[in-house]
Amino acid sequence: MEAIGVLMTCPMSLYLEQELDRRFKLFRFWNFPQKKEFLREYSPSIQAVVGNATVGADADLIDSLPGLEIVANFSVGLDKVDLEKCREKAIRVSNTPDVLTEDVADLAIGLILATLRRICESDRYVRTGMWRAGDFKLTSKFSGKSVGIIGLGRIGLAIAKRAEAFGCPISYYSRSRKPDSKYRYFPSVVELASNCSILVVACPLTNETHHIINRQVIDALGPKGVLINIGRGPHVDEPELVSALQEGRLGGAGLDVFEHEPEVPEQLFGLDNVVLTPHVGSGTIETRKAMADLVIGNLEAHFLNKPLLTPVV
Ligand code: NAP
Repeated sequence: MEAIGVLMTCPMSLYLEQELDRRFKLFRFWNFPQKKEFLREYSPSIQAVVGNATVGADADLIDSLPGLEIVANFSVGLDKVDLEKCREKAIRVSNTPDVLTEDVADLAIGLILATLRRICESDRYVRTGMWRAGDFKLTSKFSGKSVGIIGLGRIGLAIAKRAEAFGCPISYYSRSRKPDSKYRYFPSVVELASNCSILVVACPLTNETHHIINRQVIDALGPKGVLINIGRGPHVDEPELVSALQEGRLGGAGLDVFEHEPEVPEQLFGLDNVVLTPHVGSGTIETRKAMADLVIGNLEAHFLNKPLLTPVV
């Protein structure tokens, strides 16, 4: 397989880079500032693209690679891959489901706890010597609070399972009611937000779910409500979120993803009722290795004419 050209779109995993380099002819796209010239010279030899949640394969890239056979993404979310274009051109697509589910659900619970119990703020309280001047303020309880989940898929279910262990009643919204689910279903996001204290976004980013968290939803969640986003940044209308937090119309937010990441609205930096993490839902050593192995497994399966391990298209 050494002659097969694989284009990695941006740095994502050193282990994956090394393993791809050993098996294929790897091109690191970020090392070529002159993209057009690079493509003119090398595009005929590129048969696979490896992208991630930051840089995937858009229509322009796909169109510029005449020999492209497969996009093996290093993420479960495929909002950065033009799936329609891939279908149209019979290009296979794979992602990395399941192996990251537990980590993302763990982080969601971590963000809930950190936001309600003000863990980051109280850490700063100790570090800056404020404790000597008096005890930290009282915070909000997590156990027993109602949790609403948008998207009861692999990650949503894993979050529900964890929140259940905290004694939380669970409800959810998705396009379809899950017939086997014991959790309460609401047919709209606004109804879900009106009936929970903690609203967690865990659905894929699509045209339908862009800004699924808007002013109406934020107002339904209310001044005691908390928003947790471990989905994708554009799920949230960020200026609306910022003003609701500043004006006290929303109680707090735990955010792993941002609308224009790595840019984050600076107004959030001064707010103690928010906890911010830099898109690290799947960011553990163990999980990133498992994701890399899945990318390699899909590429090898494809080029050996075997069924893909985790096919999408
Ligand atoms: P999944 O198993 O496919 O679950 C997605 C769920 O979302 C399904 O229950 C689906 O139910 C629901 N859904 C789809 N479209 C919807 C819509 N328009 N409105 C409401 N619900 C909708 O996916 P997953 O593995 O749980 O991953 C979910 C997402 O998490 C990924 O797409 C990715 O963007 C994000 N993620 C983030 C990180 C991170 O680092 N922060 C890491 C991994 C994944 P219906 O079909 O019934 O609507």
